Amino acid sequence: HAMTALTRLSDVYRLRDPAWAERPAVRLGAGVLSFAALDRLTNRIAQALIRDGIAPGTRVAILDKNGLLYPALVGGILKAGAVVLPVNFRLAADEVAFTLDDGAAALVFVGPEHGGPDHGALAAGLSCRAVEVAGLDAWLGTVPDTDPDLPGAGDGDVVQLYTSGTTGRPKGVCHLDRAFCALIGTFARHVALPAAGEEMMVLVPLFHMAGFDLMTFALAQGIGVVLQRDFDAAAALQAVAGGIGALVAVPAIIQMLVEAQARAGADLSPLRRIFYGASAIPEPLLARALAVMGGVEFIQCYGMSETNIITVLQPADHGERGLLAACGRVLPGCAVRIADAAGNEVAPGEIGEITVRAPWLMHRYWRRPEATAETFRDGWLLTGDAGSVDGRGYLFIRDRLKDLIITGAENVYPAEVERVLVEHPAVAEVAVFGVPDTRWGEAVRAAVVLRPAGAATEAEILDFMAGRIARYKLPKSVAFVAALPRNAAGKVLKFRLRQDWLEANS
Ligand code: ATP
Ligand code: MG
Repeated sequence: HAMTALTRLSDVYRLRDPAWAERPAVRLGAGVLSFAALDRLTNRIAQALIRDGIAPGTRVAILDKNGLLYPALVGGILKAGAVVLPVNFRLAADEVAFTLDDGAAALVFVGPEHGGPDHGALAAGLSCRAVEVAGLDAWLGTVPDTDPDLPGAGDGDVVQLYTSGTTGRPKGVCHLDRAFCALIGTFARHVALPAAGEEMMVLVPLFHMAGFDLMTFALAQGIGVVLQRDFDAAAALQAVAGGIGALVAVPAIIQMLVEAQARAGADLSPLRRIFYGASAIPEPLLARALAVMGGVEFIQCYGMSETNIITVLQPADHGERGLLAACGRVLPGCAVRIADAAGNEVAPGEIGEITVRAPWLMHRYWRRPEATAETFRDGWLLTGDAGSVDGRGYLFIRDRLKDLIITGAENVYPAEVERVLVEHPAVAEVAVFGVPDTRWGEAVRAAVVLRPAGAATEAEILDFMAGRIARYKLPKSVAFVAALPRNAAGKVLKFRLRQDWLEANS
C-alpha cells in the first residue's frame, strides 16, 4: 500500500484511507478505538484545547502510562497546532513539576494513577492547568467533532521528547513538523512493519522516543497499535497468539518474554517481527530469543531522542553471525561519520564518536542553548556514543563515551567486558563501570546478578574471564547484587552503581 506523503504530523490522526475506517487503531484489553473513531476523537480533543485557549506552538503535556487514550491525546494536541510534551510517568511528583515548568507546559493531561484526590500533592505543585484523562468526556463537553484543519507547523516544533536520563538530568528535545514527516516517510519506504491490517504491540513506554516513533509509524500506515497498561509478559504472549504481527521491545523486555515463552510455550505463529533497541542486547540473549521464538525476525534500531531512529538492522543482515552485534545500516537520507576528538573522520573500522546528519535530527534542546551548541559540530550531531563502521557500512556501537574507563592510560569500553562476563553460565545480568582509583586513575568494577539457580564466586568469575580478555580489562572486583538499577527505558543507571560503590568503599 503506497502511503501518501505526510506534510503534517497531525495527518497521522486523520482518516487518510476509507478502507481503514473500521479497523482497530488502538486496542488495550477489551477497549478499542477504530481509525475513524480516533480521527473523530482527536478532532474533539483539538477543539476543546482551542476552546480552552491553547494557541498554536503552546506545549501540552501528557502524564500517563500507556493507554487507549494516549494516542488520541497526542493526535488532539497536534491537531490543535500545539506541541506534544510526553512526561515520564515514573517520575516523582516534584520531578514532574520540574519537567512541566521546564517545558513551559500550558496544560497537562493526567492519568488515573497520577490524578484524583489522593494526589493533591501533585496537583498543588503544578504550575499549569490539569485535565484528568479519566474525566475526558466531561471536559470535552459538547465541542464539535470537526477537524480544525490548521496548517502544518513546518519549521515549528511538534514534539518535545525528554531523554531517558541515563547519564544525567533528562533534556527536552525539540522536533520540527517537517523533520518528523520526513522520518515517517523514510521509515515506511525502507522498513517493513507488519502488513497493513495487522497489529503491532508496543511494550515500551510511549513517552520515550522508541515507543513514540514506532506508534507513529504504525498508525501512519494503517497498522493498529496494541498496548498494555503495565508490562505483563504472559499476557503479551497470549495477545500475540491471538494474532499480533509485531512487537516493540527493549532487551530487558525481550529477556522476560523469552523466559515466559520458555515456561508457557504460547503459539507465536502470528508473530513475525520484534523491533528492539535503546540499549545493546547481550548476544546470549539474542541467540536464545532466536531459538525460543523460532521464525521471528529481530529488527534492531539505533537512535536517540535527539536523532530519532538512524540505523536499522534488518533480517537480511542477520545471515552472517558477526552481524548480530551490529546495529545496522543508516536509513537513506542520513549519514554517519565516525570522528576523533578533533572532529576528523577516523579510518574505516576504527573507533570514534558516532556523529550523524539526517533530515530528522532535533534542531535544539529546549532552553539549553549551550548544550545545543555543544551537540552540533559543522552540522553533525555528536551522539556521545562510541562506535565504528565496517567496510560494508554496518554501524557497531561500542559504548557511551561517558562510560569509557581509562585505566592505567588504557581505554576500556565497559560493553566489551560485559559481553565476556555475561557468557558465564551462572550469570544473568551484568554492568561494568569505572570508579576513581589512586593508582590507575580509574578502576574497572563489575556488578553481577546471578541466575536463580546459579552460583559463582568472584574468583571463579575472574578466572573464567582471564583467558578471554586482556588483563587490564579485568574487573578489580565483582559485586553480587539482587538487581541492577534501571530507568523506564530499561537502561542500567551506571551513575547509581558508581555512587553505591563509592559509598560502600569510603
Ligand atoms: P540521557 O541522554 O538523558 O543520558 P539516554 O541517552 O539514555 O539518556 P535516549 O535518547 O532515550 O536517552 O537514548 C539514546 C541512547 O541509547 C543512545 O545514545 C545509545 O547510547 C543508546 N542506544 C539506543 N539504541 C541502541 C542500540 N540499538 N544499541 C545500543 N545502544 C543504544
Ligand atoms: Mg543521551
